[in-house]
Amino acid sequence: MTEKALARIPLISGNWKMNNTHLEAIQVVRKLCLLLAETEAKATMPMFESRPVQISIHPPFTALRSVQTILESEESDVILGAQNCYKEQKGAFTGEISPIMLEKLNVGLVILGHSERREIFGETDELVREKIDAIMPTSICPIVCVGETLDERQSGGWVSKISGQVEHAVKGLNRKFLPKLVIAYEPIWAIGTGLNASAEDAQEVAKLIRDCIGEIFSAGSSSDLARQVRIQYGGSVKPQTAGIILEQQDIDGLLVGGASLVPEEFAAIVNCARMAPNE
Ligand code: PEP
Repeated sequence: MTEKALARIPLISGNWKMNNTHLEAIQVVRKLCLLLAETEAKATMPMFESRPVQISIHPPFTALRSVQTILESEESDVILGAQNCYKEQKGAFTGEISPIMLEKLNVGLVILGHSERREIFGETDELVREKIDAIMPTSICPIVCVGETLDERQSGGWVSKISGQVEHAVKGLNRKFLPKLVIAYEPIWAIGTGLNASAEDAQEVAKLIRDCIGEIFSAGSSSDLARQVRIQYGGSVKPQTAGIILEQQDIDGLLVGGASLVPEEFAAIVNCARMAPNE
């Protein structure tokens, strides 16, 4: 078995963005639990070889409590996730939500620095880092998004953009937090556009991210530290494209937007992860 198979359980995350009222969310999550239970039962049948997969869904803040209640009553393994949080635990920050508030809702993962937050709401690398620092001491794991624009992809500027974002996110971080870090490589030009990075390009960037972490912690990419970090790919993932991306050596999961709103599509993507070869 490869290092990948031994060390990093794939994480499939559904980012609902600003979709689904809490009433709609209840319907969607009930359907999803049903579909996931069906595919899990199939995957554990002797003729199928399946592997463990972690699943998270990230509804809007207003639906977190309702989704938490359903997941708990269904005894589901799906992890409740949030899409953002603030860098402070409490205080005069009108409109913001703190890590502690999420922790009390049993949120296990939070997306930080999504390109929509960076591009539409002006979040800087510095703010993203402050949020990472606020989340790390809690029980919640961050999914930190990095990725290049189309111009940066075409001009070759993607290498410095992504290594810069990774450096801001992790340099000086206490190394004890690295095992709970997830980085999502999300090329901005592939988000919601129907365009995918090729599996080879996604792997190249995932390796760059792992190498950067290895270098920052002076450990080299094959060190235990860099090997523990999970790296997702995100950008117009569909059931038809999930498998080939998940086969890549440095890719340990997917961050799924549009397709996560359709329970059948998201369950099919999870199924690809369960069936993807280990090595
Ligand atoms: C996302 O929002 O993180 C994302 C990857 O969206 P989509 O799958 O719709 O491209």
